[in-house]
Amino acid sequence: MTEFELIDQIFRPLGAGREDVALGIGDDAALLQPHPGHLLVACVDTLVEGAHFPTSMRPADVGYRVAAVNLSDFAAMGACPQWALLALTLPTNDAGWIRAFAAGLACALLPANVALVGGDTTRGPLTASLQLLGGVPAGTALTRRGARVGDRVWVSGSPGEAAAGLRCFDLDAPDPAAQLLVERFVRPTPRLALGSALRGLASACIDVSDGLLADAGHLARHSGVALELTAARIPLSPALLQTVGESAALELAATGGDDYELCFTAPASADAALAALGAALECRLSCIGEVLVGSGVLLLDGAGRGITYGRTGYRHF
Ligand code: ADP
Ligand code: MG
Repeated sequence: MTEFELIDQIFRPLGAGREDVALGIGDDAALLQPHPGHLLVACVDTLVEGAHFPTSMRPADVGYRVAAVNLSDFAAMGACPQWALLALTLPTNDAGWIRAFAAGLACALLPANVALVGGDTTRGPLTASLQLLGGVPAGTALTRRGARVGDRVWVSGSPGEAAAGLRCFDLDAPDPAAQLLVERFVRPTPRLALGSALRGLASACIDVSDGLLADAGHLARHSGVALELTAARIPLSPALLQTVGESAALELAATGGDDYELCFTAPASADAALAALGAALECRLSCIGEVLVGSGVLLLDGAGRGITYGRTGYRHF
């Protein structure tokens, strides 16, 4: 298959379904119609084989992942994704691989109602880069700034599961708990509905991609506050506890990456609304700490002593 047949047959179908695409895949550039009164939201994330995903990861999971990591950034902003552009670099023109990749990509883009409107296909070491565009009503976006002293700190889901899943990724015969963790690693759930619903409720928000302590640290720095987290309030899932034990479970929950959960702050007056929201979305929301005067993130044990780890999260350099 030529490059053009490939794009036409495999990627063009992912561009259907949005009326705000005046011109999609096929011309020199896409023509898109932003919503009046909304700010344009844009982000891009690149996955390099061996650095951001294991070489043994299935192509469908790579396709899913490159969309999911970007959708998670939109969730953290409370934004609504609309359009995607894909830059794909491949060592060979393997139509089977590309079809599987596109099927995984569709699994992430279709539920979010995102149209693929363009991209670029090149030869080289396996790298997938997706740019996401969308909107948010002006003045309502969630940012890393805005946490206020006295706010509470919340996290969605069960942090640490994905990092444990990466550890179990190459096991020959994972038990059901390990399988669940691997699933959390390969198919993270971008918290888009939660992110939009947090507009007007949360004071600041970030998605947990590198690790809870590391990402909470970014939120603290941008907001000019300190965060005090209580270890006992960080939810540790049964699968995580069963697979790695209590102390490693806490360390992975605090420092492991790849969860794509949301960490956010909100005033105490939002407690009831957040409880109702978690129930409505069937998404666990846990209050794990408080916003204080100062800087940095402190993790406290049951006796009120600080817990420190060698690293707070993943770093590329
Ligand atoms: P140009 O040389 O003008 O950049 P290309 O041959 O790179 O054109 O692309 C032709 C069309 O196919 C463009 O509309 C481009 O956006 C789209 N396209 C190329 N690669 C991809 C891809 N991997 N996924 C989606 N669309 C793609
Ligand atoms: Mg091009």
